[in-house]
Amino acid sequence: MTQNLTETLAYQVRATSGRPARASTAMEVWQGLSAAVVDRIADRWHATDRTYAAGRQEHYFSAEFLMGRALLNNLSNLGMVDEAREALAAIGQDLSVVLEEEPDAALGNGGLGRLAACFLDSCATLDLPVAGYGILYRYGLFKQLFDNGFQTEHPDPWMEEGYPFVIRREHEQRIVRYADLDVRAIPYDMPITGYGTQNVNTLRLWRAEPIEEFDYDAFNSQRFTDAIIDRERTNDISRVLYPNDTTYEGKVLRVRQQYFFCSASLQAIVDNYVAHHGTDLSDFATYNAIQLNDTHPVLAIPELMRLLMDEHDMGWDEAWAVVTKTFAYTNHTVLAEALETWEMSIFDRLFPRIVEIVREIDRRFRLEMAERGLDEGTIEYMAPVSGNHVRMAWIACYASYSINGVAALHTEIIKRETLGHWHAIWPERFNNKTNGVTPRRWLKQCNPRLAALLDEVTGSDAWVRDLSVLADYVDAADDVVLDRLSAIKHANKVDFAAWVKAREGVDIDPDAIFDVQIKRLHEYKRQLLNALYILDLYFRIKDEPTLDVPKRVFIFGAKAAPGYIRAKGIIKLINAIADMVNNDTDIDGRIKVVFIHNYNVSPAEHIIPAADISEQISTAGKEASGTSNMKFMMNGALTLGTLDGANVEILDAVGHDNAYIFGATEEELPQLRKNYDPRWHYENVPGLRRVLDALVDGTLDDNGSGWFHDLRWSLLEAGYEPADVYYVLGDFAAYREAKDRMAFDHADTRAWARKAWVNIARSGRFSSDRTIRDYAQDVWKLDATPIQ
Ligand SMILES: *Cc1c(COP(=O)(O)O)cnc(C)c1O
Repeated sequence: MTQNLTETLAYQVRATSGRPARASTAMEVWQGLSAAVVDRIADRWHATDRTYAAGRQEHYFSAEFLMGRALLNNLSNLGMVDEAREALAAIGQDLSVVLEEEPDAALGNGGLGRLAACFLDSCATLDLPVAGYGILYRYGLFKQLFDNGFQTEHPDPWMEEGYPFVIRREHEQRIVRYADLDVRAIPYDMPITGYGTQNVNTLRLWRAEPIEEFDYDAFNSQRFTDAIIDRERTNDISRVLYPNDTTYEGKVLRVRQQYFFCSASLQAIVDNYVAHHGTDLSDFATYNAIQLNDTHPVLAIPELMRLLMDEHDMGWDEAWAVVTKTFAYTNHTVLAEALETWEMSIFDRLFPRIVEIVREIDRRFRLEMAERGLDEGTIEYMAPVSGNHVRMAWIACYASYSINGVAALHTEIIKRETLGHWHAIWPERFNNKTNGVTPRRWLKQCNPRLAALLDEVTGSDAWVRDLSVLADYVDAADDVVLDRLSAIKHANKVDFAAWVKAREGVDIDPDAIFDVQIKRLHEYKRQLLNALYILDLYFRIKDEPTLDVPKRVFIFGAKAAPGYIRAKGIIKLINAIADMVNNDTDIDGRIKVVFIHNYNVSPAEHIIPAADISEQISTAGKEASGTSNMKFMMNGALTLGTLDGANVEILDAVGHDNAYIFGATEEELPQLRKNYDPRWHYENVPGLRRVLDALVDGTLDDNGSGWFHDLRWSLLEAGYEPADVYYVLGDFAAYREAKDRMAFDHADTRAWARKAWVNIARSGRFSSDRTIRDYAQDVWKLDATPIQ
């Protein structure tokens, strides 16, 4: 029976802290309230589990789930926010203070991991029998600090103080075997609530533990180091999330991690099948589909072959027939360095049986392709094993019944180029699923003022479950609504300015334009282009101190992979520009630059509702989709972007009057590149020479790192690679024009608000509910299964 929250809360806080609720810390109160939420959903969670177990299910395999905070999300989904506020007030606590105690579950790097989290939210909201599977990393993505403008990385032990939203299921453990080590995989289940539904789905995160906590023999015979060596090797498996989006280190460990969660998850899925449908696994694919989120979980393909053949007595052909009806693969990038390949020697060391299976897949692939009449060169290019390397993406393409890209343009590019050979053979496998984001977290929760306005204008909160209803109101905003929209944005900016002051110590003016670029730091995302614009604007004002320029705050948030020196150089550069600009009395606050440290889901929730301008300026063809572009759109920020990823579809949705599009297109770039001479741009494009020289003439200080020299060199003369591969200088003039124009347009408050309104009203197709409906219908063949 559900009890009164005030009573449950007091009880849970006392049980957590061992003190009366009134004497407990905010962190203990967070723990207690979170436990009370889990208590509230326990029955439904169990019922959902039981309901799904016997029917068709989809399993979402992902090395990353960038969940962010859980408490507000659950309170909001369960309609408990007001109740929680009152229950807290009764023990003298403030909800917003308690919410800020929660650490982010940062078990992901960026877009790919956050997408997985949005998908889980939508699956639960749509009552779809979908579970997520990944790893319970002890350390999430590193915590970023700045030391004299340089990024430094620090561990993020996010669960150290306890985390009520994962439940250890000791008795559902599985054993994962490597050639050199056996480990226990312990599932930790996280409840995934949906909005306005009874269903509670599950994210299952595996933690590696030693078979025996301790080797007593070794310990007793005084070999203390031996006693802990295997334990440490085991713990390593779920110790850290790799902080790299695109390049890979610690290879053996990484492959070990991938196999670990694939094997444990498949064992659990197969056991569930056997429990409900018997030991004949030939119908496995009738009841199970598995979505591979990028190539990280592709080892699940040979592992399922192993389980079917070695543990369930299937022959190869029968097992392969099951496997090829089970897996679907999502490609997330066209960057060549992100298509994983592993040295066969790593596989040899870890799992010889998987090597045999992969080699047999390769042998059969080569035969099949030869029968199809493919030439040797093509077969060699496509083969799962080549030389001493295993190519995970090619295994995925061969074994999956569905292959999808994540935005219309991206899907066209993978069909034409990245996966062109596969498309030529199996065009029917290819489909597009444009990414989306959940309007619960990214609108209702993070922007309550705007949510209230939408409730009012549309007459209900139906938009929270079906964002497409907003399109009916695209023309419904009269001047009163538009003025309220402007007032809401302003109020959000006031809140955000206070947050920035407290967190970064910088004063910013809520009346300025807030121009935001938040995303992982990568050359293709072109934070450098934005930085060069700011420098140029700075010099323009220095030249002509009375220049009439709209007041602006440039806001950045980005982590660089620890080994990606050039990306770190860009962070240092932006911080150096901030130092110079923010403290220059000639500028007098007309430009401010703020780099929000440790960008993550929670900072994003503070930043996005306050943004006026959404920077989506990647080199055309490089950003597969982007999802921050969608979050901004939903919150009424206007896109300043290239025709890349989902920007193309955002433009389709809002029209040229309501988005600012600039720069070379993906179609044009190959031709433009042929004759591209960055030096010519340096010498001829107004402003460029001065900003590039400022990197090396003492205007800006890189503290002897040489990193600013490297940045300039990468743009102008790179040497072993073509200079300026991301076309920063080529797009500079168009970017400057569009960005200047945008700043002047902002002055017409009404007209700007109308554009913002159109963006919000047309954001329905960028809800992850739409994306998930498409997956469920086209790929997973899955029906909604509400619990009774
Ligand atoms: C949405 C999101 C991303 C993805 O941003 P892009 O601009 O699409 O690359 C990355 N990190 C966090 C924390 C996010 O919330």
